Formats: sequence, structure tokens, C-alpha cells
Amino acid sequence: MKQNTLKIYNTLSRKKEVFEPLSPPHIGLYVCGPTVYGDAHLGHSRPAVTFDTVNRYLTHMGYKVRYVRNITDVGHLQGDADEGEDKIAKKAKLEQLEPMEVAQQYTDSYHRDMEALNTWKPSIEPRATGHIPEQIALVQGILDEGLGYVVNGSVYFDVLKYNEKYQYGKLSGRILEELISGSRALDGQGEKRNPVDFALWKNASSEHLMKWESPWGVGFPGWHLECTAMSSKYLGKQFDIHGGGMDLMFPHHECEIAQGNACNHQDPVKYWMHNNMITINGQKMGKSLGNFITLQELFSGNHQLLEQAYSPMTIRYFILTAHYRSTLDFSNDALIAAQKGYKKIINGLRIAKNLQFNSDKNDWLDENQINQVEQSISSAYRAMDDDFNTAQAIGHIFNILKKINSVYTGQLHSSIFGKEIFDKMISTYVVFVDEILGLKEEKSDNQQGLLDVLLKIYTEAKTAKNYDKVDEIRLDLKELGFVVKDMKDKIDWAYEE
Ligand code: ZN
Repeated sequence: MKQNTLKIYNTLSRKKEVFEPLSPPHIGLYVCGPTVYGDAHLGHSRPAVTFDTVNRYLTHMGYKVRYVRNITDVGHLQGDADEGEDKIAKKAKLEQLEPMEVAQQYTDSYHRDMEALNTWKPSIEPRATGHIPEQIALVQGILDEGLGYVVNGSVYFDVLKYNEKYQYGKLSGRILEELISGSRALDGQGEKRNPVDFALWKNASSEHLMKWESPWGVGFPGWHLECTAMSSKYLGKQFDIHGGGMDLMFPHHECEIAQGNACNHQDPVKYWMHNNMITINGQKMGKSLGNFITLQELFSGNHQLLEQAYSPMTIRYFILTAHYRSTLDFSNDALIAAQKGYKKIINGLRIAKNLQFNSDKNDWLDENQINQVEQSISSAYRAMDDDFNTAQAIGHIFNILKKINSVYTGQLHSSIFGKEIFDKMISTYVVFVDEILGLKEEKSDNQQGLLDVLLKIYTEAKTAKNYDKVDEIRLDLKELGFVVKDMKDKIDWAYEE
């Protein structure tokens, strides 16, 4: 196992830290999952791909990752605050469905989209509604510590009291006094002693759809509570990495830290990781702006802002071309460029998997070429070790690809690398593309069948010197997105870049 080479930017300390797991080789990784009341959209793709890549790289390093990603199916209210309608219940009323039908439908569609993006399934995918007793126990624990209070069947977290002993706001850098003075002007404090307090349990009105018995009456859990309940249940009271989008840092993750400390007297998480946001043509995505794009719309091209369809692997590749802490702007131009880059990478993958070392031509080694390959390999790993810098790693992978392509086209002879370096070059490329970056070919079995038939006809036409037929097949293949390659000793194909 490669150890102590990985550095992670910890949002909590605001600096890169050498990664030292709590109990290696096991790693606890928790990522806030979707609230399942609508189709997954662009905003879901970035944390999904980012933390999938974190999971893949840690696994590649030899760690045993327990990756927990929850499904929020209750308690997430409109406006993300402590008042308003439950997002799932609202959708259920609108569509005359059971709330659990809504949750199931959008959990299924989320899974479909995550599979398309080639993300690994989480080790555990717990649902908030499946963990009501655990959440009630947490509320009781916080009350026992004197850090919560009950009003009319609802329970609130006492932030001021908590802050006497701990520091509320340390993750997001918020100052409590400023939060209080900032929120005074707003109304809606309602039952709270202080506007900065947050709900742990909410009393449910009779028309409320999803509700459970509790020691404080019939109600439902506050949104922040579920992640504390499920992460501590499956990963322990303190675990290695908690991930999520930057938008969740406050109040959601700040509240998780407060709940964890209140119950267990220790910080729940060692490394907090946050991916930056995405924009569309430079703007924030929002329903009112008309630039809200679901992943299905992106994959089909069925949206007024899209000039064409973009495949899931194009999206995955595009996300990986930026470091996860940088902003990422979606535009047709950027996506078309990403599509080209992805096809280059994947053509390289096909070539690399079939390329053979051939020692019968030269018996001398080209030290200069060998050095370049070795540099690119170690640089690619160094980039990943530097806070999962996929953007830089991809650059180095392209340098390796140049060498592979040179061998493929006959510009370089494989023997100049020596067998050991040649094999290392090929395996590093395949491991990076396949395993670490999670990029795969997207051609269907049908397409492969068609391709095989057309290539056979092409070869026959070429042997028969029927050049009209040759040109015709070439055009047919182009329509399907493939280019024929007439090599010295064989006929090959590639994805059109
Ligand atoms: Zn969460």
C-alpha cells in the first residue's frame, strides 16, 4: 500500500493535510446523497463523480473503503430551513402518490443516472425513513446533555449553549455573533429561543403526511439529524472523510458537527471535503433562470440550451478535467471539447489494451523516451496524491497516450522502452483510465455487431479493389461515429474524435 503520500484539503483546517486514516486499512467515507423528489440534475453529477473518484483512488491505494451515501426521503423542507412543506410530501400531493412512491421513483432514476456516470455503488445506502429510532435516540442524547429544548412537541438544538463549550461555525467560518445579528432582522423565529437554533424534531400537524411517534409527540426528524444518525451508525462516532457540495457546508454540515459533538463529545469527522459548484454559461443553475438541466436531458440533448446530446462519459470526463475545488462552467463549447478529449482517451484505451511488446527489431533502449514515460507516470500519481487533482493527472495521462499512439502508428518501436517500462506504461494508462478516472467505452452490443459486419464488408471490398464500395462503407461507419484505420498489416477502427 502506498502510504502517507496522499494529501487532502481539509475544509475544517483550511489547508492540505497528509492523509492519516483513523484505523487503516479501513476508511469511512460518508457523502450526503440526494433528496429524492425529482430527477437528478447537473448539480448532482459533480459530488457523485468527485467522491466516486475519491473512493476509486483510495481503493486503488489499497484501502478498504466503506462508502456510505444516504437517501433523504423525509425531513428536507422547502427552502432548506426549518419551516415549510416537506419536499417529497409536496411532490406526492401534486402527483397524487404515496410519499414513498415518489421517493422510490426518484431513487430509481438517481441510480440509473449514477450507473450511466459509471459511479461505484455505495457500500451502504441508508434511507432517513429507515432510521427514525436512531434519530429519536440522538435527539434524546442531545436533550440529556442539556443542549436541546422542547417547545410544543418540537425539539430544537440550543446553539448558544453549545457554543459555550464548542465552536459553532468553525467549518464554514461563520461567526456566531454575526449569524445572530444577521438573522434578527428576519422574522420566523417562531418557537426557537434564538434564530440560529435548528430543529432536531418537528411536531407534525394532522395533515402532515410522513410522521412518527416520539417521546415528544407525533412528528418527523429535522433534516440535519439523519446524516449524524446514519454516519455514526455505520462508520462510528468519528470517521475519516465526509464529503458533499460546498452548498451543504452551512448549515447542514455545521449542524452535523454540532450534533456529533453534543452527543459524543468529539468531532465526528477528521477530513471534510467539499466540491465546488457548477455554473451554466457562467450563471448559477436555477429553475427560475430557465437553465435547470436534468442529467436525462443532458444525455438526450433534449433541452433548449443544448446544441446536441452529451453522453454520460463525456459529462464524467468534463467534470474530471477540473479540480474538484475549482468552479466548473458548463457550456456547449466546453462540452464539445470534452467529448473530443474523452474519445481520444478511450481510443487510447482500446489501443493500449491490444498493443503488444515486440522485441525482435531493436535491442537498444532509448533512455530519453524511457525518462519521459517514467516522469509522466510519477507525475500522474503525484497529481492524484495532491488532493485528487484529476485535472493535472489527465494532462500527464495524455503525455503517456502520446507515446502509446506513437508505438501504435509505428513512429516508435516498442522495444526502445524495454519490456518492463513498456508494460508499466500500458498498465498505468489502463489503470488510470479504467479504474481511477472511471472512463469506459460507451458502444452498445448492437453497435459492435454492426461495426463487425461493416468492417468485414470493407475488408472484402478493399481486397477486391472495389473502391466505390470502400468509400461507401467508410461513410456509413462515419455516420455511426467510427473511423476506419488502414494500418500496414491490418484494418482497425477508432471512435471519431
Ligand atoms: Zn447530509
